[in-house]
Amino acid sequence: MTTYRSMWAATANKRKERPVLQGRASCDVVIIGGGFTGLSTAYHLQQNGCQTIVLEKESAAFGASGRNGGEVLTGFAIPMSKIAKSKGIKTAKQMFRLSLDAVDLVEAIIHKHRIKCDFKKSGAFIAAAKPSHLESLKKEQEILQRDFNYPVKIIEKKDLETELRTSYYCGGSVDENSAHFHPLNYALGLAEAAEVLGASIYEHSEVLKIHHTANRKVVVTTDRGQVTARAVVIATNAYSGPLNRNIQKSVVPVESIMIATEPLSEELMESLIKKNRAVYDTKHLLFYFRRTADNRLAFGGSGSSYSKQDWEKRYANLHRGMLDVFPELKNVRIEYQWGGKVGFARERLPQLGQLDDGTHFAFGFAGHGAALTTMAGKLIAESIINGGDVTSPLRKESVRPFPFFSQHAKAVGIMKLYYQWLDRVSR
Ligand SMILES: Cc1cc2nc3c(=O)[nH]c(=O)nc-3n(C[C@H](O)[C@H](O)[C@H](O)COP(=O)(O)OP(=O)(O)OC[C@H]3O[C@@H](n4cnc5c(N)ncnc54)[C@H](O)[C@@H]3O)c2cc1C
Repeated sequence: MTTYRSMWAATANKRKERPVLQGRASCDVVIIGGGFTGLSTAYHLQQNGCQTIVLEKESAAFGASGRNGGEVLTGFAIPMSKIAKSKGIKTAKQMFRLSLDAVDLVEAIIHKHRIKCDFKKSGAFIAAAKPSHLESLKKEQEILQRDFNYPVKIIEKKDLETELRTSYYCGGSVDENSAHFHPLNYALGLAEAAEVLGASIYEHSEVLKIHHTANRKVVVTTDRGQVTARAVVIATNAYSGPLNRNIQKSVVPVESIMIATEPLSEELMESLIKKNRAVYDTKHLLFYFRRTADNRLAFGGSGSSYSKQDWEKRYANLHRGMLDVFPELKNVRIEYQWGGKVGFARERLPQLGQLDDGTHFAFGFAGHGAALTTMAGKLIAESIINGGDVTSPLRKESVRPFPFFSQHAKAVGIMKLYYQWLDRVSR
């Protein structure tokens, strides 16, 4: 039977019960949001002897961090060639290096703390949905090699069988440095690693108010408690509420949904995704999929064109998409279906920095947050420790809210319809 429940939650390591914040507490840095970003910030601050408290509205990794595809990818949501055009090659090179370091950082933390999260550095396959997309991947390959000294391998349509058993795609490119993991187990392991270093994490503790005092302290209030600290970090990404209106309006939440099959035989799984890669395709409304440690196919996508469609229909659409890619799974049961919010900022690139009142923020990782969020947490921690002095190509001096943000749900729906049409008619 299909459950409206995340497969990651159903297969997670045993999780700790964490307290609700009650009464008054104090620390050096209070962090709002217990996803990868917030937990990594706490972890890296604690490593430097800074006392932290993390306040999470629900439970640790309730947001995108506990729900995503677990594809730990190099690069960003837009190709490096585009970033080089808009930011200049020097910044683009720094950004790309940062993304490679982010994957290494995640791997190092997992090994250091023996986090059981099935981390596999088996690379990513970017599947070309159209012949023209394969041409674009070839151009990107040239630029990555020439300007970034970074090799990726092109797979022609005739050789697609070496990566995937499907006729749906027209070839693709292979990035050997990407990975995949069980995202919720990584987040839970990161939370415990931060706690071992001295962090306190409170769950079911929604921050309702942030107040900066005259004596350079910050007081954050939940419905049952209050934390006084010398710095505050907002790490609420696509789950941002009205706590800080500028941040809320700077990140557009876009729903992404996933389904997971029943466990498949080793032979079948190996024949579908030959090298156990994290796969995503080049469509505007893309599919992303991978094998799990217990041999399920986890398959994600945007599901539907317009938010008014009911959930049943959205999952049915995604299931149809899965069968378009792998028709032989026709009789395979879907056991789990779930969704979450992906956060998009301007330029579809992550942003981190400090507001005028000193509040630190990081958001907008788009579909590339599994590695970059851990790096963002490290950078925020360094910025706090160095008194705001950190050089990062992702750093922003201020946030830039989207105009007409209140209309975002409608705008996203219209964009999805347009993208759906574009995916259908382009060659
Ligand atoms: C379905 C899906 C698939 C994805 N697949 C991939 C993938 O394969 N690879 C990849 O790289 N990226 C992927 N992403 C994106 C990635 O998951 C995110 O970029 C990343 O998890 C963001 O982490 P975060 O810590 O910044 O935010 P989140 O994990 O969303 O954490 C924010 C937290 O803040 C809490 N919060 C909000 N308001 C308050 C408040 N007032 N007080 C206290 N707490 C609050 C929320 O409850 C939430 O837990 C996917 C996302 C989704 C939804």
